[in-house]
Amino acid sequence: MANVKLDGVTKIFEDESGEIVAVDDVNIDIKDGEFLVLVGPSGCGKSTTLRMVAGLEKPTEGTISVDGEAVTHLSPQERNVAMVFQSYALYPHMTVRGNMSFGLEETTDLSDEEIHTRVEDAATMLGIDDLLDRKPDELSGGQQQRVALGRAIVREPDAFLLDEPLANLDAKLRSEMRTELQHLQEDLDTTTIYVTHDQTEAMTMSDRIAVLNDGQLQQIGTPLECYHRPNNQFVAGFIGEPSMNFLPVTLENGRLVGEHFEYPLGEETRANLGDQTDLVLGIRPEDLEILDAASGDHEFPGVVDVVEPMGNENTVHIAFEGQARTESELTATISGMRNVKEAESIGVGIPENAIHIFDGETGESLHNRDLGEVEGDRPLRGAEAA
Ligand code: ATP
Repeated sequence: MANVKLDGVTKIFEDESGEIVAVDDVNIDIKDGEFLVLVGPSGCGKSTTLRMVAGLEKPTEGTISVDGEAVTHLSPQERNVAMVFQSYALYPHMTVRGNMSFGLEETTDLSDEEIHTRVEDAATMLGIDDLLDRKPDELSGGQQQRVALGRAIVREPDAFLLDEPLANLDAKLRSEMRTELQHLQEDLDTTTIYVTHDQTEAMTMSDRIAVLNDGQLQQIGTPLECYHRPNNQFVAGFIGEPSMNFLPVTLENGRLVGEHFEYPLGEETRANLGDQTDLVLGIRPEDLEILDAASGDHEFPGVVDVVEPMGNENTVHIAFEGQARTESELTATISGMRNVKEAESIGVGIPENAIHIFDGETGESLHNRDLGEVEGDRPLRGAEAA
């Protein structure tokens, strides 16, 4: 177990077209035993960050420390961290037992007996103890991934570094392995940095999420903080599926004026906006209300463009009145039991306690949704801060 700290970590690659700033002045303090998920779109610098912690890349600037000791100058072998990649990279000619024990035999002074015990224990923990004499090509993808995890576990490292370890598995197995990995991490209580581009993995598995974009850390917080209290429009749009709706608006006489609607704001909301008039109104799909007709100040006439039935819920694409249906701007999620038809005229409610407002130029969050009113007197754990 260990605390892992990244202090002003920057990585610049040089190629024939110039410099690529892959990681830009990132500061993250990962607590002892914490499960931190590094998430962001392809190319945002996740893997490079992880590889720097592993010692596979050297930072251009900044320091990485483990339990207060700088490890930036140490080779991967000298750092007590274990990395698991998307490609399991198992030795095909070795059995599962051989794959799991090889690293310990090569790099430690542990006795054969100790190695045997560690391998047996890890295999039992992972439910692969009956596969120890098989070769990798006799295993399913999920089993191979477990072996790769087992190889990391037997090392009893200070930290696990996992780079998209579930990406090669099918959706059902991925979801099972998500839960398994969480339990495993809780049992082992080992500091874990987990890289993924999948926001569902980030939301469901992590103690905290670090959201990266263009090499820069956008936010670090609990999943619910990032979901309900995003620092900016990027985080708001990246976390959550379907994505938050964004409507460009201007502030005019206390109203948000969009192309097809005008939205009056209460005093408290207005007070958060300062002088900025170029804004973006954000509302999550599950917060939109679908009504028979629009009547209140925050309700607007609309027409249903497309309904995507998912069984448990329907995803409904809605255009404002006066807008071509195919240019629908709003996505709502509603119960799968509700019957909404394509081309139907409806009212759409945008409750003020659920709206977010972003600076139209910088993307910074100026106003985030009210949590108290939605959750009543039972605060939403993990999102109270900020
Ligand atoms: P993905 O999810 O696609 O793996 P990522 O978020 O892990 O993406 P990185 O692999 O860290 O992103 O890459 C960050 C940026 O650095 C990208 O623009 C990438 O092209 C660049 N990059 C990564 N490795 C190198 C390298 N060895 N030489 C030059 N550029 C690199």
